[in-house]
Order: sequence, then structure tokens, then C-alpha cells
Amino acid sequence: MYSHHTHSGDYSQHGYSPLNDMVERASQLNFKTFCLTEHMPRLSAQYLYPEEIHSEDAEDDVARLLEDWEKFVEHARRIQLQHKDDPLKIIVGAESESCDTEQIEYCKSLQERYSHTVKFFVGSVHHVNGIPIDFDSSNWNRALESCGNNLLQLITRYYETQYEMLQLLKPKIVGHFDLYKLHLPEDLKVDTESGQVTTAPAGRHVKDNEIFDLWPSLEQLVLRNLQFISDYGGILEVNTSALRKGLQEPYPGLRICQLNQLHGNGKFVLSDDSHSVDQVGTHYGEAIAFLRDTVKLSQLHYLQLEGPEEDQLVERTVPITEIISQFEHI
Ligand SMILES: [Zn+2]
Ligand SMILES: [Zn+2]
Repeated sequence: MYSHHTHSGDYSQHGYSPLNDMVERASQLNFKTFCLTEHMPRLSAQYLYPEEIHSEDAEDDVARLLEDWEKFVEHARRIQLQHKDDPLKIIVGAESESCDTEQIEYCKSLQERYSHTVKFFVGSVHHVNGIPIDFDSSNWNRALESCGNNLLQLITRYYETQYEMLQLLKPKIVGHFDLYKLHLPEDLKVDTESGQVTTAPAGRHVKDNEIFDLWPSLEQLVLRNLQFISDYGGILEVNTSALRKGLQEPYPGLRICQLNQLHGNGKFVLSDDSHSVDQVGTHYGEAIAFLRDTVKLSQLHYLQLEGPEEDQLVERTVPITEIISQFEHI
């Protein structure tokens, strides 16, 4: 089993379990690859999450985030070396924060500074117009307001930010590709032509899985992003945290998986985006059934470190059937 995107309570304010326990759990579950990919620190205090604000001077919190991240890199490296001869391989990465262009460039420079340990990015977008879309519903609604209360504009803005992040970072793993769907309200009614939020009788609720039929311009943006990922050699993660949070499909949903198969490189890795030991390998059975039966995927990719120093990041493939037999042992 594999996870290419994880956090811990030691270094993430919304994590629960210590980093050592996370790795111990992955080892118990016979994972082969477990990537430690803590969130990168923010450059500007305006992008701190409420849970990260502890000091009177926000700049102190910004400084502390960087210190914590540096401690994470050291700690993750120690764990990696401890598991050097184990079947479980630890790879250290970092999850990007794409609040604005400056922040994306900051992520790039930090990764370069720590590239001896931090081997890859999970390239993620958590913000639209600088407002977090995955924190809670009220922030999601603020992001919608910042897009003129237009759902089409919100999703367009999301994919444009993702494209900017992809161009600047070329992340090996692209995180939760369609994260905007997490807080899409069930009672939100929009004009299906313009995407404008409306209370008029003609307005109706738009489900995440129909947005591409309603708004072909969005499909074009997704195709552009998928083709770019394919060109530089990135891989989409199938992130099961969406299932853990009650959505019907993982990130990304079926339509995007199919577009990646038809027009991208068709590569996927598995991620649990776990923040606590009980989330390690969460909903993998459901996700693997979705990939095998609905997406009709025959193989998954995974990352490994190879070479004499075990510092060369390589991608390998595993048939879905083999994943299922590994899963049955859990
Ligand atoms: Zn994320
Ligand atoms: Zn994450």
C-alpha cells in the first residue's frame, strides 16, 4: 500500500497524531511507500489559518511556522534513515500553498534550499483570491463572494490558480485536483448559463459531476492543466480524504480521471492525506473499487527512492489486482 500525501499533529495545527505514530501505523499496515508531506509555511501573515494564530504579533506566528517546518524536515529525515532497511520506504516531500504568486515562488525557493531531504511537491491549491476554500463553509462562501457570487467564476479562478502553480512548481504529485467541490453547498442555486448565484425560480442546484456539461469552458481549463502535467511528467493523486469527508467520489472525480486517461498521461498515485493514525489508508477499499470498476484503471503508480544513496526519486507501477491483494492483508 502507498500514500503520497500525509501530515501529523506535530507540525500541522489540524493534525492529531505524532509523526512517529503515523509512520508506525503505516508500517503495521504493510505500506511500501509513505510520503511525509507537511504544509509549507506561509510568507505573509494574511494567509495564516485561524488555528495558526497564537501570538499578538502575527509576524511571530509566521516565523514560528517556518521554524516548525524546518523541524519537520529534520525529524522526517531522521525517520527516513531509521527505516532505511525496512520494507516501508519513507519519502519526504512538501505540500505547496498557492495563496498568491509570491507564496508559490517562496515554496519553490524553500524546497530548493531543503532539496537534500525534500524530494518533491504535492502541488495543491487551497485558496481562491487568497481565501481558503477547504477550511470551512463560511470561508468558501467568502471566496464565492470574491468571485462576484458566481460559481463558474470561482471554479475558473481555481483552475487558473492551479495552472499558475503547475507552471511555477511542476509538482511531481498534483494534490486533490478538484478541491473546490468540498464545500459546494447543497442548497446553492445558480443560473446554469452564467453561473451567477440566484434565488429566481430558474436557478437550480448544480452538482459537482455536471459542471463540465454545463460549462464546457471549465473542461477546457482542466484539459489544459492535465496536458501540462503530462508534458512535465507529473502525476495526479487519487486522494481519499474526500471520501472520508463524505463526498461521493475521491479527488479527482470520475470525469477528471477519464479526461486524464484520454488526454493526459493517465497516471495516478494513491494518497490518504492522513492527519491522524486512524486516517492512514482511510477509504482505500472504496477508492480502489472506484478506480478498478468505474474508472477502469489497470495500474497505479507509486514513488520510490533508488540509487546508491537512495536519493533518486523514481516512479514505478503496480497492477490494481496486486494492490487489492495487498489491501486484503490490512
Ligand atoms: Zn491540501
Ligand atoms: Zn494535505
